[in-house]
Amino acid sequence: MIASLRASAAAAFLSLAAAWPAVAQQPAAVQERLDLSVAQRIRDEGLDRSHVDSLAEYLTDVIGPRLTGSTGMRRADEWVTQTFRQWGLANVALDPWDSTFGRGWERVNYAGRILEPFIEPLSAQPLAWSGSTRGTVTCPVVILEVQDTTQLEQFAGKLKGACVLRGAPRVIPPEFEPIVRRFSADSLLAPPAPPRAPAGPLASLTPEQRRERFQQMRAVAARVNAWLRGQQPAAILEPSNWTYGILLVQGGPEAGPARDSANYEPLPALIVQQEEYGTMYRNVKAGRAVRLELNVQNRFLNDDLRSYNAVAEIPGTDKANEVVMIGGHLDSWHSGTGATDNGAGTVVMMEAMRILKTLNLPLRRTVRIALWSGEEEGLLGSRAWVRKHAAELGLISTYLNVDNGTGRLRGIWDQMDSAAIPIFQEIFAPYQDLGLVAVRHGNTGGTDHLSFVAAGVPGFNYIQDPIEYGFRTHHSNIDTYEHLELDDLKQAATVVAWTVYVLANRDEMMPKGPLPAGRGF
Ligand SMILES: [Zn+2]
Repeated sequence: MIASLRASAAAAFLSLAAAWPAVAQQPAAVQERLDLSVAQRIRDEGLDRSHVDSLAEYLTDVIGPRLTGSTGMRRADEWVTQTFRQWGLANVALDPWDSTFGRGWERVNYAGRILEPFIEPLSAQPLAWSGSTRGTVTCPVVILEVQDTTQLEQFAGKLKGACVLRGAPRVIPPEFEPIVRRFSADSLLAPPAPPRAPAGPLASLTPEQRRERFQQMRAVAARVNAWLRGQQPAAILEPSNWTYGILLVQGGPEAGPARDSANYEPLPALIVQQEEYGTMYRNVKAGRAVRLELNVQNRFLNDDLRSYNAVAEIPGTDKANEVVMIGGHLDSWHSGTGATDNGAGTVVMMEAMRILKTLNLPLRRTVRIALWSGEEEGLLGSRAWVRKHAAELGLISTYLNVDNGTGRLRGIWDQMDSAAIPIFQEIFAPYQDLGLVAVRHGNTGGTDHLSFVAAGVPGFNYIQDPIEYGFRTHHSNIDTYEHLELDDLKQAATVVAWTVYVLANRDEMMPKGPLPAGRGF
């Protein structure tokens, strides 16, 4: 496997190396002292003696889903800290947030079938922090489609005991082109495209007006949810936003209050396979009776409302008070086993620590790993850590994050910190043959490096080949071990270990980028 990885990597990326302007020829570049014998040792350990497979397999197949606050998340916390101790890492801890997360939630049972017009098992999953049915219930299916709250009156009194379809399924065209992909060298090295003009009904609005409109839409949705609760339906059903039977499942409509308050009992709420939802929707629209039988049982966990981030270190030498941090979120949504989101990033960062520790490489700065909780609910764990450790942030040279699926690392965004560009270019140069080619000027969002950037710490998220992340695996019931590209993850761990090694040993800390306006804690 390793030999084939190297052969295919060499073949696939030969042209990339040729296309990349040779770093050594850039006169303005800072001079990183790169020990190429160490680059080779890290490569040998990361590609030939990798632990990525066994780590990924245990995390996904044995621990499974890791919704923050669930039993699975607790087991994951225990496993990663135990693994760090076995490896001999220092200062291993589960660091509690400075604030509470709220009630945990997990699935106990789901059984559902269509009874009418024909019998068929109903492929569905409960939304996180949704409620339970009272045992097995049967219910007529009705459609609730409203644009605003004035339209609710016509449904008043008609939903009690019903299974309510919330709106029409999205029309998704067939995939005429393959959409599983790697980045081409051209796309990685091209200047960033200008931001796309907004399309659709909100296109003519200013950003301010658009924000207002979204707030209004959220407020309407909250009022509809409150009204719906009063109507006492048996369950709420929403269509999956992906086809091919894939269930894209996140938090339920009442997740907020259900997490926050110990006595809140939310309605049962399910994501239904898009195709089965469409069948029911068309039948009801045509006036034909549709009936379901459901038994949905979920459990709330009230015993510990706190949440934790798992941390561990390799202590530095003469600059031990300064820190290079790496991380990714350990938590996941609940319907799959969180393999590409973000078992992949978790395993890559763990493996990078293992490589550095195993090779016993000298590190001037302390290297710290943090595996976050609460990312899926809004970067909550990393934000809590940054708030709690505000006094130490000035000594964090860099925070590096991996959280864009299973694809190999192809570069990094500078996060508008241009001074970082030549540093990363030089660090990446010895690994160009592994496909690591691009240091791009621009922002990338959506994950935990933002918590650091907002607080003025240079924080970066690697660029990864997308593979099938954005339209198949992340947040879905098929986010499982099968969809991990293990050779890509080995490459990623190797790249991270090398990046960390150089950053931990260079004379200066990473230069600080501009503090983004209007953000921070
Ligand atoms: Zn993620």
